[in-house]
Amino acid sequence: MSDAVTMDKIVSLCKRRGFIFQSSEIYGGLASCWDYGPVGVEFKRNVKNAWWRSMVETRDDVVGLDCSIMMHPMVWKASGHIESFSDPLVECKSCHMRWRADQLEKQACPSCGGELTAPRNFNLMFKTFMGAVEDDAAVVYLRPETAQGIFVNFENVVTTSRKRLPLGIAQIGKSFRNEITPGNFTFRTREFEQMEMEFFVKPGTDEDWFRYWAGERYKWYISLGMRAENLRMREHAKDELAHYAKACVDVEYLFPIGWSELEGIANRADYDLKQHSTWSGKDLSYFDTQDNERYLPYVIEPSAGADRSALAFLADSYTEEDVEGATRTVLKLHPALAPVKVAVLPLSKNERLAPFAKEVHAKLRQCFATDYDDTQSIGRRYRRQDEIGTPFCVTIDFESLDDNQVTIRDRDSLAQIRLPVENLVDTLKTKLAGEAFGTDSLWAGARA
Ligand code: ATP
Repeated sequence: MSDAVTMDKIVSLCKRRGFIFQSSEIYGGLASCWDYGPVGVEFKRNVKNAWWRSMVETRDDVVGLDCSIMMHPMVWKASGHIESFSDPLVECKSCHMRWRADQLEKQACPSCGGELTAPRNFNLMFKTFMGAVEDDAAVVYLRPETAQGIFVNFENVVTTSRKRLPLGIAQIGKSFRNEITPGNFTFRTREFEQMEMEFFVKPGTDEDWFRYWAGERYKWYISLGMRAENLRMREHAKDELAHYAKACVDVEYLFPIGWSELEGIANRADYDLKQHSTWSGKDLSYFDTQDNERYLPYVIEPSAGADRSALAFLADSYTEEDVEGATRTVLKLHPALAPVKVAVLPLSKNERLAPFAKEVHAKLRQCFATDYDDTQSIGRRYRRQDEIGTPFCVTIDFESLDDNQVTIRDRDSLAQIRLPVENLVDTLKTKLAGEAFGTDSLWAGARA
């Protein structure tokens, strides 16, 4: 990653262009809570759609699910979250700042150098009350991961989908963790979205599937244009593994804060189904008709963060270039992720140009996510589209009225071509499907 990409620059662009705002800003903001603006909501949805497309829509062996955020409290007993979903918390005896002990390099307060208390376990789950009476019986938790909804529905899904193992169940949704030290923009927040898939396999085949999914997940980021030099796989040492995991490998990204986890791929063995079988009293084993045997499936789990992936794609695509002596800031997003694919920009807000430009826009918006902008100078409008990562701008000038031709400007090369309006949709479809980017687009042929 270029040295020039700092978190401050990304935060500033996100605010300036409507990607991400601080939550409750007019009241001074709420720490580590963020809102996705008009451009950001499209961008994050594109990240999630790209994940869903690659994990569910293009596969025969994965189906989707959408579970409720609040679940029966016994789920969290069985999963081990009530007992052990905690981080070691230390507090400074002088300034009372709180820290995660496992993230400190020294045994002194990073803020004031003061002495720290001994660590105690701090459970990260948010508790709330269901119903009108605030008593213990009504305590429920906001889910700290989406995975458990998948495990407790394993039997429902296998029965109704009429699929055989190996079978994956995928889910995208909000998770909540009362993190001790949230921060670094959307990298670590208390409310975030996860993209998780539990892949149920026959014991003994799990190690091969684990390698397979680690490879697939790495390739997914690359297929969406992430630079290989900013990605690496880090295998967990045995003493680092969670108690339920047989193996784990992280996809790490070189964020402006350094190499950090983007996604974890874990071999959870039969831990979860075994726990839920025990605690619910329901046999969750699977009868394999092909091999004529019954077993508790093993699970391979690729678990990614939607917000964290979105942040990584922003950081990776953020570019500052020198163009004719001026700095051009541009997000070189893969077209599948770009919030706007094509912007229609009449040269000026002229009443002769407007009807023609609007007609062109009406045609394009049937096929692509578009923007129409006729305010300010054309230079400023290009700058805006560059900063939100719009792959193509279509400009309409006075000559267009005579020759029925328009100009397409390519975000990355700044090359311009002029072509007849009737060729516009097909040309843009081809270009958005990868021609201009030299990528093997996941979206070839699909609605860009
Ligand atoms: P960490 O060790 O950084 O706390 P973790 O290993 O507990 O993370 P997982 O439980 O494996 O994280 O969660 C899977 C993915 O969910 C992470 O790789 C990350 O992308 C995302 N994620 C987890 N916690 C957060 C958070 N607080 N804010 C944003 N994304 C998160």
